[in-house]
Amino acid sequence: MTTATISGATISGHRGLQMDEPLIFELDSPGSSGVDLPAPPKTKAKTRLGAVPVRESVGLPGLSEPEVVRHYTRLSQKNYAIDAGFYPLGSCTMKHNPRLNEKMARLPGFADVHPLQPMTTIQGALELIDTLAGWLKALTGMKAVAMSPAAGAHGEMCGMMAIAAAHDHRGGPARKRVLVPESAHGTNPATAAALGMVVEAIPATADGRIDLAAFKAKLGFDVAAVMLTNPNTCGLFERDVRELADAVHQAGAFLYCDGANFNAIIGRVRVADLGVDAMHINLHKTFSTPHGGGGPGSGPVVFSQALAPFVPLPTIIHDDDGYRLVECQDEDEGTALAFGRMKAFHGQMGVFVRALAYTLSHGADGLHQASADAVLSANYVLAKLKGTLNAPFEGPCMHEALFDDKSLKDTGVTTLDIAKALIDEGFHPMTVYFPLVVHGAMLIEPTESESKRSIDQFIATMIGLAERAKEDAASFHAAPTLAPRRRLDETTAARKPILRWKTR
Ligand SMILES: *Cc1c(COP(=O)(O)O)cnc(C)c1O
Repeated sequence: MTTATISGATISGHRGLQMDEPLIFELDSPGSSGVDLPAPPKTKAKTRLGAVPVRESVGLPGLSEPEVVRHYTRLSQKNYAIDAGFYPLGSCTMKHNPRLNEKMARLPGFADVHPLQPMTTIQGALELIDTLAGWLKALTGMKAVAMSPAAGAHGEMCGMMAIAAAHDHRGGPARKRVLVPESAHGTNPATAAALGMVVEAIPATADGRIDLAAFKAKLGFDVAAVMLTNPNTCGLFERDVRELADAVHQAGAFLYCDGANFNAIIGRVRVADLGVDAMHINLHKTFSTPHGGGGPGSGPVVFSQALAPFVPLPTIIHDDDGYRLVECQDEDEGTALAFGRMKAFHGQMGVFVRALAYTLSHGADGLHQASADAVLSANYVLAKLKGTLNAPFEGPCMHEALFDDKSLKDTGVTTLDIAKALIDEGFHPMTVYFPLVVHGAMLIEPTESESKRSIDQFIATMIGLAERAKEDAASFHAAPTLAPRRRLDETTAARKPILRWKTR
């Protein structure tokens, strides 16, 4: 059977026990309701709202309870998740989130804690945040940590604001320039630009690492910071980071490290030893809870001695009186130079609980093992696919394997086609077209939590697709044919999203 007949419409529009699901507004059957309310008491007014006349329908759909339950259950089944299958999204560290974490996060003392509760009633929650902060400092060797940032990008902003505050405090020449490698995640230059800094790209060498000579040529006394990712987004360890850090410090600048790739080095490298001044940690990547967990992520930032005085509020202090949240600048509490406040309240409690449960259940030895297994999994993918796809850089990788589209040249099949075909094969696509330093990038991060069996299935699928690309390019262009929807116009969806059912 060809894919065309497979994708042919059924009588009902449903396919393989999956219902084609309209919007809830399209399911509207006026007058239907899931509740049976008593009739309102009779009033003299003409309408049920008293004197206020109803001018038009409020536009809420009418559905019975089973219709509502089915609608949302079906939508949930269309949601691909790490609990449903392999999720090789490079840079995102989509690892299994142990059920133990969920059990802990749902304990009422954590799940129901209110941000305005008196401090005496949330001692356990504050202790948990403080204990996790202690682990993050121990794992990185850093002096201080800001726990409140709500995402990696928010952490970057926090780190760069502390750097700006430190420069202000020192006085001296204005420092506006920020050096960022070409391979950096888009949030790095975006953060610097959002803070009014001027971003300059540092080129990469042929082996996918920062070009140290080009970097040194750009360094000067008007540079505020360098934003580096290590391991970098090509999945490679930046070997010259110590030399780079020394040069940065000699120029009076600070070294910011994007720590989203901490999964590759956790328990093995203390970033303080690399000369880093500030680094965010994506709790929602490295410490399970992959992307979500019922709310925003969590991107705590660890700081070196030099930046520790500028760490933002709130901060937790533990002394004879128990745990205390310090929310204002205060000489006696050591927070006089705090640059301000990143966020209301204390941070993302649910992700903190999961991260501490993850850390304690692994222990120091388990975290050490996790990074080793993550790197092993990625190198297994690299070794097995290297003969089929082109690996642009030499040698072993860290936690993610990078390929470009050279092997697809002249087939008429693109990286995007491979990604879409993977959907038909039951796999979430890998990260594509990032990092920008290689053409048609495919960035695959299996993480430590995938079994050899699932990685092997993925590898066999990739090899199969690469072979089919040479013989039957046409079959790729319609993919995905088995998903609920075909190819979407992603640009229009992003630029002109239609977020309302009917615009009035
Ligand atoms: C995910 C990621 C970020 C940003 O983290 P968010 O929590 O999505 O804001 C930054 N840098 C790298 C390398 C990342 O992978």
